Amino acid sequence: MKKLSVVFLGPPGVGKGTQSKIVSEYFGIPHISTGDMLRAERKAGTSLGKQVQDILGRGDLVPDDLVVAIVEKRLAEPDCEGGYILDGFPRTVAQADELEAMSATALVYNLTADAEALVARIAKRRSCPKCGQMISVEAVGDNVGCPRCGTDMVQREDDCEGTVRNRLRVYNEQTAPLIAYYREMNLLKSVDGMRNIDVITGEVIADMEQYRGR
Ligand code: ADP
Repeated sequence: MKKLSVVFLGPPGVGKGTQSKIVSEYFGIPHISTGDMLRAERKAGTSLGKQVQDILGRGDLVPDDLVVAIVEKRLAEPDCEGGYILDGFPRTVAQADELEAMSATALVYNLTADAEALVARIAKRRSCPKCGQMISVEAVGDNVGCPRCGTDMVQREDDCEGTVRNRLRVYNEQTAPLIAYYREMNLLKSVDGMRNIDVITGEVIADMEQYRGR
């Protein structure tokens, strides 16, 4: 069977994390989120966590060599042999070059949405500090517990409006060039991220199954 080496591309708040989680569970391949990994380092107070703390808070990019090192280590784990879903990596052309040197990408899904919708979506986004479940307060109301485990939901510190605007700027300047990069490699598939979650998931899963050859 073909290796499902997949990259989810797209601006902050477009739904990469949500889709990656569902799709990775469906195919039984790991979901690798560099944002989650960096936040875990920060929470554990490791030296890497301390190095990236302020960068995460501002919404700027962590230096390429640091992120490349954590991804390289993760992709070397045996559970990545049949494939993986990268969420939030690569974010620069230099990272994409490094990734191709480590492992050839098979599929790139570029999730798209309009910038103002993203700012509004992120402002409403809450996550569970215990199990990582994400929800929108629009869907369930504010001050409710995690639908999975009941823990109080929190807002990510970099989800405040000022930081979100910086993250969008950083995305446009440093990450958006990857759209042309992967298009030139004939790997890019555009997915309209403004539709319902399950409609998007269905489209991505069908495409991955077709690629894998079922
Ligand atoms: P989102 O996709 O919602 O913007 P992430 O959880 O993917 O958020 O990333 C949060 C932060 O982690 C980024 O704003 C950035 O500071 C850092 N980060 C994550 N992935 C990378 C990467 N590949 N390169 C550099 N910095 C990264």
